[in-house]
Amino acid sequence: MKKQKNVFADLHTHSTASDGLLTPTQLVESAQEKGLSVLAITDHDTVGGLAEAFQAAQRSGIKLVPGIELSCVDCSLMAASAPVFLLMVLSRQRRYLN
Ligand SMILES: [Zn+2]
Repeated sequence: MKKQKNVFADLHTHSTASDGLLTPTQLVESAQEKGLSVLAITDHDTVGGLAEAFQAAQRSGIKLVPGIELSCVDCSLMAASAPVFLLMVLSRQRRYLN
């Protein structure tokens, strides 16, 4: 039986492109230092940090999953009284590269 390799991932992070404390590059570097193989950057209502993150990920070997956390404006449509956020994973990496 083939031994499977463990993969560690964080699929919900925010960078300074929204309300995070680390730049996209710092997030990727931090993920690498912590031994993660996969990182998703899911900033609030923006994909503005993804181009920088992809460049950092290419240098580090981290698999970057592009994402976004959308704020839902009309919470009444979702029967919620608190703010609602929709977390999405995106596709087509090349769209975020310069
Ligand atoms: Zn979030």
